[in-house]
Amino acid sequence: MLEALMYIWGAWIVFWVAIFISGLIFPPEYRTPHHNGLWIVFPEGWDDGLTPEEALAVLHHELAHVRRGDVWVNFARLLCFWPTSRAERHRQELRADDEVEDRVALGTALWKLSRDGFDQFRAKRLLGSQDANNLTSGMDEHQRKESE
Ligand SMILES: [Zn+2]
Repeated sequence: MLEALMYIWGAWIVFWVAIFISGLIFPPEYRTPHHNGLWIVFPEGWDDGLTPEEALAVLHHELAHVRRGDVWVNFARLLCFWPTSRAERHRQELRADDEVEDRVALGTALWKLSRDGFDQFRAKRLLGSQDANNLTSGMDEHQRKESE
């Protein structure tokens, strides 16, 4: 029985490693920079309309993901049948935002690049909140609105 479970787990790992590698070879289309686990991908034209300060702030946000190892933490969790929840992914974004020194530049960049309500929430938080230590300030409210 244990041996069968180990084979299933091994197949699960091989499956996700293959997905990960195929994502490196055939990257999904992103409009904004992202860390794929090995390097930061900068899609063509991602910084159109951004000031140099805003582009730098976006780069610093991605470097925060690299330092924090978010991609690898999420991947390890997936391999252990404990996928990262959407709320936790959102917290990872907020933590990476908080590591960027130029909050205003990141906030305006996010506002320009925003694809969804969460990006707009992050922009407002960076531009409006003076309380950088309150990581999830307003997040419950944002998630409640999004689920409506
Ligand atoms: Zn991010």
